[in-house]
Amino acid sequence: MLIDTHTHLNFNAFKDDTNEIIKRTLENDIWMINVGSQYTTSKRAVEIAERYDKGVFAAIGLHPIHLQERKVDASEIDSQAVFKTRAEEFDYESYKKLAQNPKVVAIGEIGLDYYYKPKTKNKLEQFKQKQKETFLKQFNLAKELNLPVILHCRVAHNDLIHTLNTKYQLQDSAFSGVIHCFTGNLEQTQKFLELGFYIGLNGLILKNVPALPDPVEIINQIPLERILLETDSPYLTPPQAKEERNQPVNVRYVAERIAQIKKVSYEKVARITTQNAKELFKI
Ligand SMILES: [Zn+2]
Repeated sequence: MLIDTHTHLNFNAFKDDTNEIIKRTLENDIWMINVGSQYTTSKRAVEIAERYDKGVFAAIGLHPIHLQERKVDASEIDSQAVFKTRAEEFDYESYKKLAQNPKVVAIGEIGLDYYYKPKTKNKLEQFKQKQKETFLKQFNLAKELNLPVILHCRVAHNDLIHTLNTKYQLQDSAFSGVIHCFTGNLEQTQKFLELGFYIGLNGLILKNVPALPDPVEIINQIPLERILLETDSPYLTPPQAKEERNQPVNVRYVAERIAQIKKVSYEKVARITTQNAKELFKI
């Protein structure tokens, strides 16, 4: 058994065949968590999870890229939507209401993303400030409801580590979470491990991305007991996959690669990472 701890079957890319994809995933003995990126996709993740007795869960949250008006990613939102999405303001109470559904196992994805940043210094400061404030509000929601967090972080690892270190004494609390789609360097890996976080790995470790740290070195530094498997589907399709659109069954390629790097059996990777996900998300 495997658990894809980060997929987006709640996105538009799966709107025509969500049920078939889920059926296929469950038949392959794989469970999944559909992760929200804004209110609409969070709500859809909950609705999907409610249709299944077992193996399908939801995470809800406002992703930092949705705080700005931006061009539509057609795979994420409805195709009939306007060319640009409006910026969403985080509404604590409506997310709280959604989070109280028993299928919701985490607050996420939330975090910092400085990839598409404004050019002027003034705007850049505002942009970062807004992301940090929204992140902390959601972090507080997770604490209030005693839920783990699913963190998204892109070109902002040091700021995220600083925010976590200064705002919360994570080491002293029962608080927990995962840093998903991990792209940090060795030093940052160590810091997230010290903070008690799990590290989420996906198809990125199967690609050769020169701008990122060597995944072999990073994976060797993370104990298997701290690794979670994910696909981030429909994105980050592993090269071995037959279809261009990624999907949860492809999580096995991620497990295979980790087994190869760590020189342990596939079964061991499957067993321990599944246990990790069950513990973190209490499923
Ligand atoms: Zn994601």
